Amino acid sequence: MLVVVAVLAVTARIHPSRTNAAEAPISLRYSELLSAMAAHEVDSIEMKPGEALRGWLAKPNAAGVREIRVEYASGAGTALVAAATAADVGVAFAATPPDRAQLVTLLVTLLMAAGVGFVLYAQFVRSSSGTGGDFEVGSGQTPGHRTTFADVAGNAAALADLREVVDFLRDSKRFVGMGATVPKGILLEGPPGTGKTLMARALAGEAGTNFFAMSGPDFSGMFVGVGTMRVKALFRKARKAGGGVIFIDEIDSLGGRRGRTNGHPEDDRTLNQFLVELDGFSGSAGIVVVAATNRASDLDPALLRKGRFDRSVTVALPSVGERTEILALHASKRRMPLAADVEMGRMARLMPGASGADLEGLLNEAALLAVKTGASSVAWSHMEEARDRVLLGRAREGFVVSRVEQRLVALHEAGHALAGLVFCPTDPLHKVTIQPRGAAMGVAFFQPDAELHLHARHYLEGQVRKALGGRAAEELVYGSAAVTSGASSDLQQATRIAKQMVYKLGMGRTTGLMTFDPDSGPVSGAMHANMDADVGAILASGYDDVLQCFREHRTALDALADALLEQETLAGDEALRVLRAAGMTLMPRDARPAA
Ligand code: ADP
Ligand code: ZN
Ligand code: MG
Repeated sequence: MLVVVAVLAVTARIHPSRTNAAEAPISLRYSELLSAMAAHEVDSIEMKPGEALRGWLAKPNAAGVREIRVEYASGAGTALVAAATAADVGVAFAATPPDRAQLVTLLVTLLMAAGVGFVLYAQFVRSSSGTGGDFEVGSGQTPGHRTTFADVAGNAAALADLREVVDFLRDSKRFVGMGATVPKGILLEGPPGTGKTLMARALAGEAGTNFFAMSGPDFSGMFVGVGTMRVKALFRKARKAGGGVIFIDEIDSLGGRRGRTNGHPEDDRTLNQFLVELDGFSGSAGIVVVAATNRASDLDPALLRKGRFDRSVTVALPSVGERTEILALHASKRRMPLAADVEMGRMARLMPGASGADLEGLLNEAALLAVKTGASSVAWSHMEEARDRVLLGRAREGFVVSRVEQRLVALHEAGHALAGLVFCPTDPLHKVTIQPRGAAMGVAFFQPDAELHLHARHYLEGQVRKALGGRAAEELVYGSAAVTSGASSDLQQATRIAKQMVYKLGMGRTTGLMTFDPDSGPVSGAMHANMDADVGAILASGYDDVLQCFREHRTALDALADALLEQETLAGDEALRVLRAAGMTLMPRDARPAA
């Protein structure tokens, strides 16, 4: 892929002057100011219209600085005044505008803001205390449709774990009466968009019980006491309703390790309250708490203790088969009219690494495109265009590329295509294009044949060569002085693969089986240097191979670049035809049939 990067912008960076560095005010974020005020650490603040807020801490910090400076959005001033005037905070505030005329208007504004702000603050506190409907409650289902496990495709292992919980939620008293220990907390761990929220909701729907949802950030970074209040209110609500599923999204933002340096002290109190609530309800309450996180390892170990979130369910990105199921499920749920040429299995293979949410987005984009083009059904061409949009961004109409640059992009992409075909024979070429899209000026897409779980060394070496193909083509044709910035992301990718080979996979030429892993302790400086040298060697020898290959097949390389210049986009089999017509016979594997 050839990507536009702002290399030259770096040189324009101005070096800040270092005078008075010692007395520079402490720069706080708006939220930090609020919590500092709540913690009675702020003596006074001063606001001028259109300027950063100045303030003074009650006590100087370690460096002896009392003055603070806070950037805030103009709309946030109201809440700030409200917070400053709140009875239990007591921060003196003043307004010192540049001239007197403005002073009058500002004071009026501030007075009005103080009134409005106080009302807002009072409402905020009231709604947080549990009488207001601050979080999502009730059946938690969209009207007219009850979310059940039938709405979840793939995720078989996670669903199996959740199924066990359904019976318990339906009839918790029977389980408890039988002397069974019932689950309280289930932790869903997995990347964003893999259906964690969906499954929690489906669990409630399946059991015919209530669904209460809140997200970690709703609790964290709050005024003193608000986080704990919200936690209490959430559990109280669930108990009152006779049980249900309590879903806490992004629990890591609430339940990170207590006492961590960058954590908010109030969050520790909120987390403690959460643990109290979690321990406080009995198994017969019919409550199950489901929490979601991207990284369970960041969580406070206290959360994972027995009787709390002691069940952990991993939700992985979908495999190719699961991607097919998700696409099919959503297409049928949306009652999408599909043209005969749409193959979900093929699209699933073209979307390695996509989450369920990505796939849903892809279908939506395809439907929008079908409407826009006035088609009567969603065709493969819409799916294909939608995929490019999702992966790279919209086609950049009106983005002017000179003929000279276009030639270079065509050559660069032809280089990737050719290197990929030669060195990665198991990955068929899907298409190659020089249509500018998003940040990319062109791209060669391959279609990994099967989901590989283990990667052989030659496969990894092939991937490095494929990634270096763009730069190698530029250098061979234009010379080393003329290579461009377009290969930056290619080089990043090649370096990352080579580093993994050496540092993680024991494939370094001289360092061999020794790997580097911070958890297993450091390696010597000499070892580090050798590892870096091995990484460099993988890249250098890969690059030599690619150059050698291109010298041999120069005619074919040029022919492919010319065809791209002429047609902008070539499907994989069209590209192969061009290469063959230019006399290339060395083609380890042919284009495979689509299915
Ligand atoms: P997460 O909570 O893991 O970030 P979500 O549950 O919010 O993911 O997923 C967003 C949307 O993506 C869901 O509402 C659903 O439409 C779709 N989705 C994700 N995973 C699946 C799946 N396994 N089956 C069906 N739809 C899915
Ligand atoms: Zn490239
Ligand atoms: Mg979610």
